[in-house]
Amino acid sequence: MSFPLPHALQALTPNVHAWLPDGHATWGMANCVVVTGRSPGSGAALLVDTPYTADMTRRLRRLIAGLGDRPAGGPEVRTVINTHGNGDHSYGNGLFPGAEIIATEANAEHLCAEPSPAELAGLVAGSDPDSALGAYVRQHFGRYGDFGGVSTVHPTRTFSGEVELDVDGVAVRLIEVGPAHTAGDLIVHLPEEGVVCAGDVVFNEDHPVHWAGPLESVERACRRILDCGPRVVVPGHGPVMTPADVRGYADYLLELRAAVHRGHAAGRPLPVLAAELIAGDPYPHWGLNERMAILAAVEYRALDGETGRADLVGLVGLAAEFAHRQETARGLGQDPGPDARLGAGADSVAAGSVRTGG
Ligand SMILES: [Zn+2]
Repeated sequence: MSFPLPHALQALTPNVHAWLPDGHATWGMANCVVVTGRSPGSGAALLVDTPYTADMTRRLRRLIAGLGDRPAGGPEVRTVINTHGNGDHSYGNGLFPGAEIIATEANAEHLCAEPSPAELAGLVAGSDPDSALGAYVRQHFGRYGDFGGVSTVHPTRTFSGEVELDVDGVAVRLIEVGPAHTAGDLIVHLPEEGVVCAGDVVFNEDHPVHWAGPLESVERACRRILDCGPRVVVPGHGPVMTPADVRGYADYLLELRAAVHRGHAAGRPLPVLAAELIAGDPYPHWGLNERMAILAAVEYRALDGETGRADLVGLVGLAAEFAHRQETARGLGQDPGPDARLGAGADSVAAGSVRTGG
């Protein structure tokens, strides 16, 4: 594996430990959370999300085995929760044999739209490395190898609305909040621990990507997280957050939404608006600002009343075009962006030959 992974789980409370890969400016390095039972030597564990590859999942399993003081070798993951169906949160499901796998009903229905590990590996290997999409997927997904040893493993239990579970004395609430990031998102609330696992409703220190949207729905899901009154929020990617961090993130989503709506109302073509948003990036220290193009495309689809299934590869291709443009500008020593405020760019930004992905 050519990138660092955590050597330890981070204790959020005595019963809640987080696996937090340092995934700044990457795709696929998602967080997982382990919940263990309250009694000493408890054998029960619940895992929120599973890693992207077999190797990452085995490393996480070894760290879980080091928790607790059972002579038999640590707690056993008997329940897996998938916050949503993206592979970086679910490809490792099959490496917890016998565990109940719980997701929302909407997530289970949506899974057929997700690429399997083999399809993703095929996309990376089969793409033209000289194209923007090919270079991008090789850079961001090629690092995970051929995704051998993992496969799509569907939930064994689904629900709509809310479900309450108990992990040997630790209360767990699963709350459906989708469509937001995807069609079938849930958040995991641990009320006595003061923790919410947000899945990819929330990103930290990288620009978010949201496939279902619209942004208003994602912001509403953020408010649902805050309504739980957590002390700590574990985002889908990036370091743990305070409620104030999540509030700031939710406010940003609304600002971005307003800028996209202004652009749409003014008749701006999507590639022009996306270029303006990226040029006016209000958080340049966050990674992957090319994802703003995906957010704009998804919002445009909603504004245009398009309800068909989004072309995920097309959306990644759109982001790849903008990443390529910025890299080219940097290589030429140009400043890729004017001093623009969010969404307040000029008409002079060239549209280029960008697919709309829709
Ligand atoms: Zn993710």
